Amino acid sequence: MELLNGKLLSERIRAELAEKIKAFPKPVGLGVLLVGNDPASAVYVRNKIAACKSCGIVSFERRLAETATQAEVEKAVLELVNDPAVHGVLVQLPLPAHIHAEAVLRLIPAEKDVDGFTPANIGKLALNREDALIACTPAGILALLRFYRIPLRGKKVVMIGTSNIVGKPMTLLLMNEGATVTACQSKTDPLYLKALCRTADIIIVATGKPKLLTADMVNPGAVVVDVGIHRTEDGKLCGDVDFANVAPLTSFITPVPGGVGPMTIAMLLCNTYLAATMAEARA
Ligand code: NAD
Repeated sequence: MELLNGKLLSERIRAELAEKIKAFPKPVGLGVLLVGNDPASAVYVRNKIAACKSCGIVSFERRLAETATQAEVEKAVLELVNDPAVHGVLVQLPLPAHIHAEAVLRLIPAEKDVDGFTPANIGKLALNREDALIACTPAGILALLRFYRIPLRGKKVVMIGTSNIVGKPMTLLLMNEGATVTACQSKTDPLYLKALCRTADIIIVATGKPKLLTADMVNPGAVVVDVGIHRTEDGKLCGDVDFANVAPLTSFITPVPGGVGPMTIAMLLCNTYLAATMAEARA
């Protein structure tokens, strides 16, 4: 069993990106909007801003109170979107319950949508177009699989979880790579899920359910990618995979932490640079 070391690869990607950004004719900028006091969101935003700094991306941070109105949130997004120094805009989710999140996200044009969440970017991904800004977690998983030279063409992949930000774009990416993908979700019959997993070359789990993937579901030699992040009672992090029992069966597996998480942030930085290069080409 070998670990798919996302921490190591993300550090390499960031170092390479820092060189490209240094050589870029103008500063590359990322706008980040955080609304409210959710502690996890505050940590995510802090990490993203620190990551920007580490590779020379200028961050433009806007913070609004939990009580901000729809109009105030939309105004802040539009200010970031309309700033020519800002090449990518991200709104940290979740937004407070009284805010219509979809209406806010709709204000981000596809060319500045570095999270890859807009219908236009999902459509471009479905069409396998090179100018798609691809959702960061699936893009990070693909980069990790490629780095470890794990073949995808013709391989049987089970994607567990079909969220708009992980499972669906991951399924599209894998289809584009020539894999045979089965996308499963909470309505999938658990016995069928187990049977599918037992014949899979690669299993990707993004459900938000700790230890959902157990050893009896995994074929010896399979590759397992764990997207989940949970805080255990003793304060440690774990994923959606029963790592202790599954890992010995696998050929490759992502650890939690240090697998998919750091790759997600690295891809946000890559998308911001890609958005800046596309803006420069249009200018
Ligand atoms: P989500 O809640 O939006 O979607 C979960 C998906 O899992 C749904 O499609 C649901 O149908 C499916 N599911 C739930 N229970 C299931 C079951 N028993 N069997 C089969 N499918 C089941 O979640 P999400 O936003 O995709 O996130 C999933 C997990 O990944 C969470 O733990 C989240 O914190 C984590 N996450 C990590 C990163 C990262 O960078 N590492 C990024 C995004 C999300």
